[in-house]
Amino acid sequence: MAFTWETPKGVWQEDENGSFGLSRSKDFGEIAWSPEATGRAADIAQLIGASVPTQCSCAPIFPDDFAHCPECGKPLRNAASNAKPAPEWWGPCGDHSLSELAPKGLPITAVNLDSIVRGRTAGQSTGRPDTTMLSPPLAPCVFASSRFGLLADRLIALSFEQNALQYWDPHEKQWLRIAADGDAAGLSFTRSAYYWIRPAVPETGEIALVPTDSGLYRLFLNPVTASYLTRPVWEKPLVSAPAQVQQHTACLYKDSDGVRLWTAKARAPQPQVYPCAGGQLPDNGWSRPITLNGQVIWLHQRGHLVWKPGAEPQWLPWRADWEPRFSFGGATQSRDGRLWLMGQNEQGFTYVQLGVPDGPSTVTDGARLGFGSFVFRLGHQVLEDPWDAGTVEDENDAHALVVPVLLSQSGDRRKRTGLVLRYDHFVGTAAAMLDGREERDAKLQWIGDQIITLDRARISTPLELSAFVHEDHLWLHHPDWREMRGWRLNGGGK
Ligand SMILES: [Zn+2]
Repeated sequence: MAFTWETPKGVWQEDENGSFGLSRSKDFGEIAWSPEATGRAADIAQLIGASVPTQCSCAPIFPDDFAHCPECGKPLRNAASNAKPAPEWWGPCGDHSLSELAPKGLPITAVNLDSIVRGRTAGQSTGRPDTTMLSPPLAPCVFASSRFGLLADRLIALSFEQNALQYWDPHEKQWLRIAADGDAAGLSFTRSAYYWIRPAVPETGEIALVPTDSGLYRLFLNPVTASYLTRPVWEKPLVSAPAQVQQHTACLYKDSDGVRLWTAKARAPQPQVYPCAGGQLPDNGWSRPITLNGQVIWLHQRGHLVWKPGAEPQWLPWRADWEPRFSFGGATQSRDGRLWLMGQNEQGFTYVQLGVPDGPSTVTDGARLGFGSFVFRLGHQVLEDPWDAGTVEDENDAHALVVPVLLSQSGDRRKRTGLVLRYDHFVGTAAAMLDGREERDAKLQWIGDQIITLDRARISTPLELSAFVHEDHLWLHHPDWREMRGWRLNGGGK
C-alpha cells in the first residue's frame, strides 16, 4: 500500500516497493510522476532540492525533509547545490549588465571572459578545447544558462525554427526534448531574426520572454515532468523579436490593417499600440532589435524603424541607391557613440548613420566586418571610428580575413577583447566567405592583451557559429558540429 508524506516542497507518495514520487509540488502543482521522471531522479533532486542516498541504493530519490533512508537507516543528503550560481547567459544580446554606452542587441557581453587566456600559450599555435559536449539535436538554436528560479544551473537550447525546447541533463549527459504542457503555445518564430528576453527576476522555472508565430509569451520549464508551459503577454502574430528599452517591452505585430508596434511598461495595466508608416511596413525579415540611448531600432533590407517610449515610431527608408550589408556584422559604433551600418552604393562600401532621417554617410576603402566597437578591415583591427584604417601590427594581416564572433566588454570601451574566426592567406571577397560559398580552414582566436589560438576548424558558414557561457566555460556551437567545444574560464588550458 502507498504512503503519503507531506513535506515543505509538496506531497510525496511511497509505493509498496519503497520508491518515492512527487505527486504535488508547491511550485508546479499536481504532478503525474512517471517512470521517466524516476530515471531522471538525480537531476530532479538537484533542481527541486530533494534528498538522495549517500551510502545505499534503496531508492534514487527521497522526500526533501528525509535525513535517513527509511529502509536501512543510512544517511541521506539534500541534493540542492551549495555552490554559488555561475554567470548567467541568455545570448550575448540579452546582457542586462552591459554598460549604458554599449548598444544591446549585438554579440556583446558584459561577462568577463578575459580569464580564458590564463594558462594558455600566446601565438598562432593551435590549442584544443578543454572539453566537449554533445550538440543539441536540433539547430539553429539560442542558448540560455541560468538557475531559472530553480536550485541548480542548467542549460537550455531553443530551436526556434523547429519548435523544440531542448534541455541538457548533466547527469545522464543527454539532451531531452521538453514537451508542451496541455495548451502551451508552439515556440517557432521564423519571420524575423530571433531574440528572447531574460526575465528580470525569474519565477520558478521561468526561462524567458519569447516571440512566437502566435504572440509574445512567458516561457516556463517544469523540470519534474520535463514539460513547458507558456503564459500569454500579447497574442497577435509577431513580425519582429521583442526589445526592452526604459522599462518598456516592445515588438512589431500584424493586425488586419498592417504592421503595428505594441508596447507595455512593467507593472502598467494597459499596453499601447502605435500604427507604423500607415501599416505599410514589411511583415518579415526584421533584424534583432538594437537598443541604445533609450531608443530601439529594428533594421530591415528596406530601411529601419526607430522608436522611443512615449513617441510615435519612425520609419526611415534607406536612400534609393544604397543597400545594407547585414552579413558584415550589424551596427557599429563610432567613438562619439553614434550607430552606423555598412552598405554599398555605386561609390563602394559606405557607412550610414542609424536613427536619423537621411543620416550622414562615410565612404570606406573596403568591406569591414564587425559590430559595436569590434571591427576588422581584412586582418587588421580598426580601433578608432569604424571607417578609419585598420591598425597594422603585422603585414601578413593584409592577407587574412577576420570575422568577429563575440565581444567581451567589461569596463573600458577602448579595450577590445573577444572571439574571432581568422582565415589566413585569404583571397576572394568577404561576402562570398560569409554567404557560405567557400569552405576554408579557420582559426578560432581569442584577442585581448595577447592573441591566443583556441582551435582550428573548417567552417563553411561562419555566421552560424555561436558562443555561450555555461558553468564557467566558453562554449562554441556550430550546426555542422556533432560536439560543442568548451574552454575553461579562470585558469584553463593547463
Ligand atoms: Zn537505504
